[in-house]
Amino acid sequence: MITDIVSPKELKKIAPVFGQLSFDNHEQIVFCNDKDTGLKAIIGIHNTVLGPALGGTRMWKYDTEWDALNDVLRLSRGMTYKSAITGLNLGGGKAVILGDAKTQKTPELMLRFGEFVHSLGGRYITAEDVGMATSDMDLVRTVTPYVTGISEDKGGAGNPSPITAYGVFMGMKAAAKFAYGSDILEDKKVFVQGIGNVGEALVEHLSNEGANVFITDISRERLENVRDKYHATIYEGDNLYGEEMDIYAPCALGATINDDTIDQLKAKIIAGAANNQLAEEQKHGKMLRDKGIVYAPDFLINAGGIINVYAELENYGKQEIIRKTENIYNTTLEILTKAQAKNITTFNAAFEIAQARIDARKNEK
Ligand code: NAD
Repeated sequence: MITDIVSPKELKKIAPVFGQLSFDNHEQIVFCNDKDTGLKAIIGIHNTVLGPALGGTRMWKYDTEWDALNDVLRLSRGMTYKSAITGLNLGGGKAVILGDAKTQKTPELMLRFGEFVHSLGGRYITAEDVGMATSDMDLVRTVTPYVTGISEDKGGAGNPSPITAYGVFMGMKAAAKFAYGSDILEDKKVFVQGIGNVGEALVEHLSNEGANVFITDISRERLENVRDKYHATIYEGDNLYGEEMDIYAPCALGATINDDTIDQLKAKIIAGAANNQLAEEQKHGKMLRDKGIVYAPDFLINAGGIINVYAELENYGKQEIIRKTENIYNTTLEILTKAQAKNITTFNAAFEIAQARIDARKNEK
């Protein structure tokens, strides 16, 4: 307990919880604790104006509990704008479970987590994220209906990653159309950073189109596997940011676009799947614009996954999932054009449209 280590007087000096760096008018934050299973989780509900807050559960071994809180605040906010820009009737939410998914995830812990989700009565709907598998969602489904991303044989829409990759591919093509006048990626030199579930599927699309694909990952085994499957080239250097390339596709972690990397980047386009790519949205969005790098906003082009899980709530099928995901091409082109016309960052151009949709719905109520 924090009062064990600081006096009430000192406590007053600590920044208030609502004053956290990433707190941005979040509606509700729920701290879940269960001694028996060892569950420690935080559910973040950022905004429910457009609908219930939907977003995945991430299990991660955070350095500190504050890091976990910061992550859930940032990720849940991102979901609000992702669903809004995609035209879905969903709000933004996310959950984090503190711990190592490889060693600390037990069925009992997941079931207890599901009960906490259930206790929110549908204000928050969960799904898969880093550290989770479709089978975990199937388990959660046994204690609450407020979960998506369950297996196809249990009536769900299955693994969202291939659809996410297809949406990123559509966004990348739109960015190429904007930057080069053609959306054909043949012979374009593309660096895919992180070839996990989404990255690998993106490499497949790029290879099929004849792009010159370079791959990086921290797993040598994955690199060799993906190289052999799609004739991609493993990047053997130690600083991809300084390499000559046409397109940089971050598909691993967030915040890779920052003071250090922007200085070095020679890419014309950034289009990838990772969430929260800009370390600081305003500052780094502007730095990219000043350097003439076309940035396809992450929360816009990686929405395929949420389109996929939304199908479970709205009962639409694969064809409609594909149609909605292909539309990411049109929306991206529209946003890049708008940003240029208004001389604003592409991030802000996308953000404005999303916010306007939320405000309009709020005014209707
Ligand atoms: P994943 O865990 O399957 O893949 C991530 C890959 O990145 C792994 O292969 C990992 O080894 C690699 N990696 C980790 N650190 C790295 C580093 N420093 N350099 C290079 N590679 C590194 O995750 P995923 O489902 O493919 O998701 C990738 C990103 O896209 C994540 O940021 C995720 O939040 C985001 N995203 C995923 C989906 C989805 O449908 N899966 C939807 C939207 C956004």
